[in-house]
Amino acid sequence: MTGCGRAFVTGIGGQDGHYLARRLADEGVEVHALAHDAEPPPDLPGVELHLGDLTRADDVRRLVLDLAPDEIYNLAALSSVGRSWEEPALTFAINGTAAAELLATALQVRERTGKDVRFVQASSAEIFGSPDRSPQDEDTPIRPVNPYGEAKAFAHQQVDVFRAKGLHACAAILYNHESPLRPTQFVTRKITSTVAAISRGRADRLVLGNLDARRDWGWAPDYVDAMVRAARAPRPGDYVVATGVSHSVRDFVAAAFTHAGVPDWERLVEVDQALVRPADATELVGDTTRAARDLAWTATVGFHDVVARMVDADLAAY
Ligand code: GDP
Repeated sequence: MTGCGRAFVTGIGGQDGHYLARRLADEGVEVHALAHDAEPPPDLPGVELHLGDLTRADDVRRLVLDLAPDEIYNLAALSSVGRSWEEPALTFAINGTAAAELLATALQVRERTGKDVRFVQASSAEIFGSPDRSPQDEDTPIRPVNPYGEAKAFAHQQVDVFRAKGLHACAAILYNHESPLRPTQFVTRKITSTVAAISRGRADRLVLGNLDARRDWGWAPDYVDAMVRAARAPRPGDYVVATGVSHSVRDFVAAAFTHAGVPDWERLVEVDQALVRPADATELVGDTTRAARDLAWTATVGFHDVVARMVDADLAAY
């Protein structure tokens, strides 16, 4: 489906929903999106918004059966690992149960209309928990260590269950992916927005948790591209979506201060033990051999460019 057809996107208020909806609308796809009725609607020209809430499964089912989309992208999630410790049940309802409901509805659309409906679940590297080997691939054991990962693991396994029933369902196992649209509760944007504030004389300290954690940070629009490729591939599958290179939080801090031209920045960084998580993967880094082979996908933006683009966007805001 390029330039025609209809897509249904959940999680339109988030970073990925924004980039995906813009990408599909630019291609001429008729984009319908579920917008959370408790949040201000996103401003996305060419996207038809339907107010609702994923946890009201009957409403969502009616809407999706009525739309009968060709492609369904389930990006909606409570997206913060930190917050999932405070709200595990809500995290499971949105990140887990709602995905299973949507898969069941996609299968119903397929059965009623005969369409080869394409379903993409935004899965997460957090399903691997604290893996004992790096890099991880699609066969790495699923052993989540926080409520966010647990709920995403359930949804991930449901993709497999519905694929076995004949649905073209894919799980994109997304590693951390960033952009200037990333909210500041994530460490990357917290760093770049604070570094920009320090550089402009509006802040004097950067307070963080675990500086030694290593993550595989990529560029969000690249990851959206991988999801579209998965939807349109001849056969459904699960794909690790990552850059294949990890860096520590400390590396990210150093790159951000250096790019902003702040000298002697080490004295501005503090560690607050309250920000160190009870369970935190020491390293997450993905092996994208399968995505490269089956989807002809690779990340196009590396670590230093991700940092630079985010710092530049935050500096420009002053
Ligand atoms: P996550 O990997 O999806 O949880 O993305 P985050 O950006 O929230 O966290 C990435 C890593 O940064 C984790 O290992 C965190 O423990 C670590 N980290 C260190 N300091 C902070 C902080 O102040 N805020 C957040 N969100 N993460 C931090």
